[in-house]
Amino acid sequence: MVKRKNRCSFCGRGEDEVALLLSGLNGYICDECVRQAEKILNENMGGEVHLKTGSNDGLDVNDIPKPRQIKDFLDQYVIGQDSAKRYLSVAVYNHYKRLAQPGDDGVEIEKSNIIMVGATGTGKTLLARTIAKLLKVPFTIVDATIFTEAGYVGEDVESILTRLLQVADYNVTATERGIVFIDEIDKIARKQDNPSITRDVSGEGVQQGLLKLLEGSIVNVPPKGGRKHPDQDYIHVDTRNILFICGGAFDGIERKIAQRLNTHVVGYDSVQNQQRIDTKDLMKYIMPQDLKSFGLIPEIIGRLPVLTHLDPLDRTALRRILTEPKNSLIKQQIKLFAMDGIQLSFDEEALDYIVDKAVEFKLGARGLRSIMESIMIEAQYSSPSQQIKTLTITRQYAEEQIEKQKGKLMQS
Ligand code: ADP
Repeated sequence: MVKRKNRCSFCGRGEDEVALLLSGLNGYICDECVRQAEKILNENMGGEVHLKTGSNDGLDVNDIPKPRQIKDFLDQYVIGQDSAKRYLSVAVYNHYKRLAQPGDDGVEIEKSNIIMVGATGTGKTLLARTIAKLLKVPFTIVDATIFTEAGYVGEDVESILTRLLQVADYNVTATERGIVFIDEIDKIARKQDNPSITRDVSGEGVQQGLLKLLEGSIVNVPPKGGRKHPDQDYIHVDTRNILFICGGAFDGIERKIAQRLNTHVVGYDSVQNQQRIDTKDLMKYIMPQDLKSFGLIPEIIGRLPVLTHLDPLDRTALRRILTEPKNSLIKQQIKLFAMDGIQLSFDEEALDYIVDKAVEFKLGARGLRSIMESIMIEAQYSSPSQQIKTLTITRQYAEEQIEKQKGKLMQS
């Protein structure tokens, strides 16, 4: 006998089509219809009605890693960036607290979406990825450029949530507690010199779309992503509890910061203030109004109340990045060779040379990897077939290999 599947008595969807199906005396109701009913109640009863949806299942405040623990974990993988790490740790901790908060005392902890500003290759994505390893909620990284790259054929902003749904195996309840990292948010800034006043393909339109998600609303998400389609079935996702972390390089924002600092310090104590300003690293003075000058709309800025910056990576930081992180490039190479029974080591001077080249090619931390690959390709190719037990990379060897590959490296 075939078992008949239970269906929601309101919308008719089967138990396999919904996240949760509650059973009553003579029927069933799905999570989606409960939510719809909440909306109707809110609209008709004037005040806010809050249903306890059991959103804190599985999350006990005592199980949540404390901010210090989160930062300690980040320290194992990411060099420096103390300020960003602290902000992120607190934001993630608070996100869990929000999910676990008792809902009956009238005090609702609001979410604090974050925006991280820092030059490319300073570790924004790495921070996000590392946080993801530790999280107990669905997490995804999306690139804001997908909404603009192809102009009108770019994806709808709602497809951000498609990714999150996919990570959560289409479990809507889990998705609604997730965290989304939106990379390259600066690429959707309004272009000040946009000649068209009626159509703004890249900037404001996308920001407006994103605003809806950040604000917290019920969004129709195309299950397979891409563009919305009239005949498509949508999944309704409530973004109220989704934490958004945004990152962007905001190239040239230092100029805006400098302008602001200059205009502000004119006055009584201007000389004193100016002396204290570190002009080499203006990023640390970033304020929300600088994001506005750069082209983010005030509404978006208002929905990203936690603003933090990443420091530029100097030689010392690059040198540490090579060796210190838990899965540093050096450790990875050593492991690769160890699997062939070869003990690999690097002379200190060889490491200094790699850093020199990364600085010279202006590739930052991102360049360390391609430089390392260029140096190691020859040895990786031939040593597995050689009967050697040890291999030491000297500065001279590194130089020779780089000389051979220089053309290729300069292009990357
Ligand atoms: P961003 O997102 O800021 O452009 P990424 O996080 O993608 O930069 O960094 C590129 C690569 O450079 C990373 O995969 C990582 O290997 C390395 N890297 C960058 N910053 C750091 C850092 N602070 N600590 C360790 N590695 C880093």
